[in-house]
Amino acid sequence: MDARLAARRLLVNGIVQGVGFRPFVYQLALRHGLKGEVANTSEGVLIDIEGAPERLDAFEAELVSRTPPLARITEVRATEREPRGAAGFRIVESRRGASMETLIPPDVAVCEDCLAELFDPRDRRFRYPFINCTNCGPRYTIIEDIPYDRPKTSMRDFAMCPACRAEYEHPADRRFHAQPNACPACGPRLALHNAAGDPVAAADPVAAAAALLREGAILAVKGLGGFHLAVDAFDPEAVARLRARKRREEKPLAVMSPDLAAVRTYAFVTEEEARLLSAPERPIVLLRKRPAGPLAAGVAPRNRWVGVLLPYTPLHHLLLAEGFPALVMTSGNLSEEPIAAGNEEALARLSGIADAFLLHDRGIVRRCDDSVVRRVAGKTRVVRRARGYVPRPVFLARRLPPLLAVGAELKNTVCLVKGDRAFLSPHIGDLENLATYEAFCETIAHLERILDIRPEILACDLHPDYLSTRWAEEQRGLLLRRVQHHHAHVAACMAEHGLTGPVIGIACDGTGYGPDGTVWGGEVLAADAARFERLAHFACVPMPGGAAAIREPWRMAVSHLQAAYGSGFSRLDLPVLSETGEERVRVAAAMAAGGVNAPLTSSLGRLFDAVAAILGLRRRVAFEGQAAMELEMEAAEGVEEAYDTEWEEGEPRRILPAPLVRAVVEDLLRGRPAAEISARFHNGLVRLFVRLCRRIREERGLARVVLSGGVFQNARLLEGLLRGLAAAGFAVYSHEQVPANDGGIALGQALVAASRN
Ligand SMILES: [Zn+2]
Ligand SMILES: [Zn+2]
Ligand SMILES: [Zn+2]
Repeated sequence: MDARLAARRLLVNGIVQGVGFRPFVYQLALRHGLKGEVANTSEGVLIDIEGAPERLDAFEAELVSRTPPLARITEVRATEREPRGAAGFRIVESRRGASMETLIPPDVAVCEDCLAELFDPRDRRFRYPFINCTNCGPRYTIIEDIPYDRPKTSMRDFAMCPACRAEYEHPADRRFHAQPNACPACGPRLALHNAAGDPVAAADPVAAAAALLREGAILAVKGLGGFHLAVDAFDPEAVARLRARKRREEKPLAVMSPDLAAVRTYAFVTEEEARLLSAPERPIVLLRKRPAGPLAAGVAPRNRWVGVLLPYTPLHHLLLAEGFPALVMTSGNLSEEPIAAGNEEALARLSGIADAFLLHDRGIVRRCDDSVVRRVAGKTRVVRRARGYVPRPVFLARRLPPLLAVGAELKNTVCLVKGDRAFLSPHIGDLENLATYEAFCETIAHLERILDIRPEILACDLHPDYLSTRWAEEQRGLLLRRVQHHHAHVAACMAEHGLTGPVIGIACDGTGYGPDGTVWGGEVLAADAARFERLAHFACVPMPGGAAAIREPWRMAVSHLQAAYGSGFSRLDLPVLSETGEERVRVAAAMAAGGVNAPLTSSLGRLFDAVAAILGLRRRVAFEGQAAMELEMEAAEGVEEAYDTEWEEGEPRRILPAPLVRAVVEDLLRGRPAAEISARFHNGLVRLFVRLCRRIREERGLARVVLSGGVFQNARLLEGLLRGLAAAGFAVYSHEQVPANDGGIALGQALVAASRN
């Protein structure tokens, strides 16, 4: 044998299956004149190559530097071998092995090459709504099990025609081993159904559906991870009808436009936002609405922001090309239920809402909502993490034992950990009804299967009544660890940034179970991955009516006013009191004073609610966080003044909300505009936290601050604190990859549960 012949075995890990990785390896090997083979195994992509030693080195370097767009290499393990004198280079069939280390890619938007074919009348896939290739198309939502091959996906029912098969088998083809490969002759098909669910004959179902949309109809459209409900976003009556039928009175609706130019007619788009809108993940991006733009006011009522996304499936492109500058594309569900995914399920659950259904026969194995992101303080912040991101892992600073964390209750997600990778599930929803609970159970089972993880540790919230906690308690043979809600928030942010502690953790949200029997939510902790200490919190006030106080911020206003002014508060000349009515105010105040159905809370979210109500912005909310959001939007730019704040020394320190509330009331009675009051309130909180962190640093030497919890979705507060703390010399960490809200909490639970012993 040639003395200059060397051989090497490379085991490649990361997102390397279903992303055109093997054809890339094949072509790279040919270019370097190397021989051998490549195979997908359950331990990763296995490459055996032999040839001149310098060629092997060049191959290995380019393997990492020229990876295809959707692939992500996390590890290459190389071992030298004896050359075997291979005849050529080939791709071998998938093998199943002992452990699964390879990552499943997320669903990605249709690529430019496929789009060009979609609109090319000479192409055999002209106007074919399921066109895809190894660089684009469905993945997570069609995969039932691994290794990722067609028989393990919902494409198994479609036998490829000779033309598709030839592409699939030709290593130089863009569709080589593209598992969802299909064409009009052999692949999935569209069908239009009427409101009753009966098929409607249509030569071109897309054109027929578009005609209905133009008449103002509500169209249910089957997408990648579930159904959307679509209406013309410029048609106020259609939007109003959708809201009424969906029983979604005020929550903003997402809008899809064909391109950036169309988006710019109704929203402002920065360069970074344009990049995000066009990225393969295609999230909903929260953009600033143009005043008096062409969008129907009902799309995002009383909101300065609008959630926008660009088309991500070929079907979306075809539909929008029918001449719609903007379509409302909102999740196909009733409020608070999971997104509908199956055809039968959609016909049943969306009947009475949709006037027509645009269906197809490619199954959705797992539902997956659209993701939502926002640019704040120069970074992308994920508000809802689902399609396009899942199941891409968060890489941890160290390896953890196999583990499942089941999250909290609202905006639930679960998190599976294997080694140094944490896989957060897609957004599941509020675990308050049977449909969401079932989705929760199915998501866990599916993720354990496709990630091949058998957890040894189970993590849940301290709250005994969360459905996620109860589910965790029913599981047998696992080590159950309960994690305090705000510790988990802080740990989630630590995990994202590879910190193990100790840090100052500021965790502020609406509600979280406190071990002392009160409802926590305005917390300053000293924390590491295993433990925390409560250093400071907002002084508790009662929530008169319990959960009713979350839906009705006027109750929190009464509670905070009573705490700030005593029983004489009812004589204050405030609209929130007169509009609520003397009797109801009196009853709520009595509940608060007597401690009847009035749990105590240190929640900063509830303080935001109270201030929003006092300012007359909102006495009732239609969804969680609405009042706080409106208080943030109200805040005027360019105001430097800040309300003074105080705390009471002790262990823990108690931050006093009363001086803040009194300052708000006095300015309001003086006739100062709400915009200015809101700005001073935000500034006051920023100064308070900076001052508190300085004090803690003096005492304990902690100089790293972690910000987490739903309150930090407030851009004004987040930006202010990032700036203020950095100016005071702190290293500040905030959420980027996972939500600051309870959607990110499972990641923190995982880190804490694995770090305790
Ligand atoms: Zn493509
Ligand atoms: Zn075909
Ligand atoms: Zn929370």
